[in-house]
Amino acid sequence: MNLDEQSLEYHRRDPPGKIEIATTKPTNTQRDLSLAYSPGVAAPCEAIAETPEDVYSYTAKGNLVAVVSDGSATLGLGDIGPAASKPVMEGKGVLFKRFADIDVFDIELDVADTDQLVRTVRAMEPTFGGVNLEDIGAPACFEVERRLREEMDIPVFHDDQHGTAIISGAGLLNAAALAGKELEDLSVVFTGGGASALATAEFYISLGVQRENITMCDADGVVTRSRAESGEVNEYKAAFARDVPEDDLADAMNGADMFVGLSVGGIVDADMIRSMADTPIVFAMANPDPEIDYETAKHARDDTVIMATGRSDYPNQVNNVLGFPYLFRGALDVRATEINEAMKVAAAEALADLAREDVPDEVRKAYGDQPLTFGPEYIIPKPLDSRVLFEVTPAVARAAIESGAARKDIDVSAYGAQLQAR
Ligand code: NAP
Ligand code: MG
Repeated sequence: MNLDEQSLEYHRRDPPGKIEIATTKPTNTQRDLSLAYSPGVAAPCEAIAETPEDVYSYTAKGNLVAVVSDGSATLGLGDIGPAASKPVMEGKGVLFKRFADIDVFDIELDVADTDQLVRTVRAMEPTFGGVNLEDIGAPACFEVERRLREEMDIPVFHDDQHGTAIISGAGLLNAAALAGKELEDLSVVFTGGGASALATAEFYISLGVQRENITMCDADGVVTRSRAESGEVNEYKAAFARDVPEDDLADAMNGADMFVGLSVGGIVDADMIRSMADTPIVFAMANPDPEIDYETAKHARDDTVIMATGRSDYPNQVNNVLGFPYLFRGALDVRATEINEAMKVAAAEALADLAREDVPDEVRKAYGDQPLTFGPEYIIPKPLDSRVLFEVTPAVARAAIESGAARKDIDVSAYGAQLQAR
């Protein structure tokens, strides 16, 4: 059977789908049932009505995340509608559970517009500890997330934007160190202009890259001041408009320290890689085919090309599963009101630090005994490295507390030890 056939069989096998609800309290006796439901259940209801924070003590809210999509940009499949996006959203739930023991209700919404999407998600706030927006198309996703973050008191996080930003940001921290380059001097060329590219460029600025050193290219070339002023590009792209003549991607890459591809496959060639500065950093993350394939980029020149892709079959995969489970775990455990910039930066730094540590044998084994020592072929930890949970999560929780986003203070080192003991 090929992968498609196997996947259809996997999903169809009884019971259909891949998640179910489980109960966490005894339900064997009449007494148990009168506690779980009427009449006993009235007591926690009254307690919460009196003290709203008690909802975290008496319900599953504090470990429950909504994975919300309108199906408008599902995987690489485009606008396939909400029902067709459900396997992806259930899959996201599987990853939340597997990597951070977080429960998910996947919510696929048939909505007419951004307003209805925002209103609907906002109305679900009582149910959830956090909201993971998923596969919502650009540029609508920027407004949806901004409004929900303003209007809700629980974390709202659009993974397609920030997941990529954080994981590749960790890679950037290590790649720049290996190349001996400072972030504030780094010239970076992006291809994209969608959800992931714009959020990633903004995040690199949080990490220390200068906005004026970023060149953003969309399908029509470099985003220039004149294109922005003519209204040809949206406000999110316009934030990167450069006062340069109309150039193309090849011109932009000449002399650049870094290329970040979050666009489409095959648009970069070996000559463009050769035109870049010494020890170039090339993160070609279009899936499934990168902007330039791994072998071509690596062999384009004599010095080292520090390369990352979105693919699992090459070194340095930018895999979002290294981020969202731990960002939400840390945020939920301190009852954070948001996932803010400080928490995202903390996650990226913790991931970058972890990649510099020795890798346990069990992790190497899980990856076919690859060497996995810190260097150009290993700048980002591996998804099946269980240390990611207890390195990244406490860093996120600490940043939430220090930045004032936490509603619950915890002893972060004891918390880290608890996670490790699980
Ligand atoms: P998106 O919102 O649809 O954005 C795609 C962008 O690519 C559009 O803004 C488009 O520009 C631009 N584009 C198309 N052709 C181009 C060209 N020839 N040169 C420059 N830009 C071009 O999609 P997304 O969610 O940001 O994802 C983009 C890509 O990154 C996908 O391949 C996705 O699989 C990949 N990705 C990988 C990871 C990962 O590795 N972890 C994570 C996220 C996304 P216009 O605005 O001009 O149409
Ligand atoms: Mg996604």
